[in-house]
Amino acid sequence: MKKFNIPKEVSRVTETLQNAGFEAYLVGGCVRDLIIGKTPKDWDITTNAKPEEIQDLFEHTFYENNYGTVGVVNDETEDETLRAIEVTPYRLEAKYSDSRHPDSVSFSDKIEDDLKRRDFTMNAIAYDPIKDIIVDLYKGQQDIKDKVIKTVGKPEDRFSEDALRILRAIRFEAELGFKISKETEDAIKKTSDSLEKIAIERIKDEFVKILMSKNPMDGIISTNKLNILKYIIPELEKGIGETQKGAHIYTIWEHNLRALQHSADREWPLHVRLAALLHDIGKPATKRFDPVKKENTFHGHEVVGERITKKIMRRLRFPSDISDVVTKLVRNHLFFSDIEKITLSAVRRIIRNVGPENVWDLMKVRACDRIGMGRPKEEPYRLRQYHAMIDQAMKDPVSVGMLKINGDQMLEMFEIKPGPRIGWVLHALLEEVLDEPKLNTKEYMKKRAGELFELSNEELKKLGEAGKEKRDTEEEKEIAEIRRQHGVK
Ligand code: ATP
Ligand code: MG
Repeated sequence: MKKFNIPKEVSRVTETLQNAGFEAYLVGGCVRDLIIGKTPKDWDITTNAKPEEIQDLFEHTFYENNYGTVGVVNDETEDETLRAIEVTPYRLEAKYSDSRHPDSVSFSDKIEDDLKRRDFTMNAIAYDPIKDIIVDLYKGQQDIKDKVIKTVGKPEDRFSEDALRILRAIRFEAELGFKISKETEDAIKKTSDSLEKIAIERIKDEFVKILMSKNPMDGIISTNKLNILKYIIPELEKGIGETQKGAHIYTIWEHNLRALQHSADREWPLHVRLAALLHDIGKPATKRFDPVKKENTFHGHEVVGERITKKIMRRLRFPSDISDVVTKLVRNHLFFSDIEKITLSAVRRIIRNVGPENVWDLMKVRACDRIGMGRPKEEPYRLRQYHAMIDQAMKDPVSVGMLKINGDQMLEMFEIKPGPRIGWVLHALLEEVLDEPKLNTKEYMKKRAGELFELSNEELKKLGEAGKEKRDTEEEKEIAEIRRQHGVK
């Protein structure tokens, strides 16, 4: 029996190459995962054949990138990981003059050269599935057994060549639960400044992988320990050592990380993980000492947090759809924590604020917040109660689009011209319907819209805009002051 079970779609490619007289090995992440006992996410093959020679051997291929990689397509399989198998010629370690990309790509005839250029010993193992032979020149198998991450060659040199490897090391640590070796870690500390030259998109990609790993909390702690969190989310560092009050037994920093870890333990999606990590990002900036209660307060931290989150998401070049959701979740994360405030009309308003598609995720962020405080899971009866309320509120109208009247109908019904007054009326109507869904009938909407159109611009605007953000005036003032003090607008 062979050492590993390889899908025939994959061994077919190595076999075809070998039958044509070339060498061909599986290499990199897939071999590492096979040795660990995990299912590989993708299959990489390395060979002494050149790109044109590879293309000549297979029916359906395409050029993958600038490194000579040829994608060999299998049209028959449904399995996404087997559809395109990447075949890359043996490559020489190229010279890096900018810690970013190799100056040029050159091919080699020797597997040794190709393994030498790879980042970590665990990623530098080749396996020939036809002859059932492992080529392991850097004791990668032993390091996998010891669960340790070591560079191939001198760590300082390897990180100076390509600083992204620093983040890759931490990402693998979080994904695999391995430790970075002492020597490799020391080299990271010495060379981490070169991360400055790495494109933010590449940093973001590794950061996302850390978040989506099993142990994102450990990953973020490592970035802090190795002094590279400043290249990802420096804002998080402000929470270090910041003690809180009451139910909070952890510092802001630790609370954020525990909230994040819970989202990973539950295998929740990226936007929930980001919101869990960032939900209290506004706390350090809003800290005030209350001399009466003799404790710190963080009024308005969700509003300041919304702003900071938006900035972070933009800086990391997240697409606007995910950025919008995360921002909304941060802005509204306090909602499910105040039991008294959870009335049915309040639930409708929160659905209006975060959008019906995000309300369940808000509950998830709330669970992360709670577990991150070290509190027990929500009582099942309480959760059922929230769920029932959300279900009920979702049946009710929660947006102007769900009203039994629309702008066009109003233009026909009343002697009015298109303009902002229509929007104000719609929002004012929605406000009433959020309090009392039964009012959403054609008759009432028509009658009430008629009355509203009698109002002056000023009165109408006030009613309509009140609908957008309904908060009591005192809180508004306080938040305005917080914004002023922190220069956030
Ligand atoms: P994953 O499971 O996330 O795909 P992987 O190890 O396969 O992990 P890839 O980014 O797919 O990671 O890269 C494939 C292989 O290419 C790695 O295993 C490693 O051998 C090599 N490699 C990737 N990036 C670098 C780098 N920056 N420097 C050196 N070698 C690298
Ligand atoms: Mg891979």
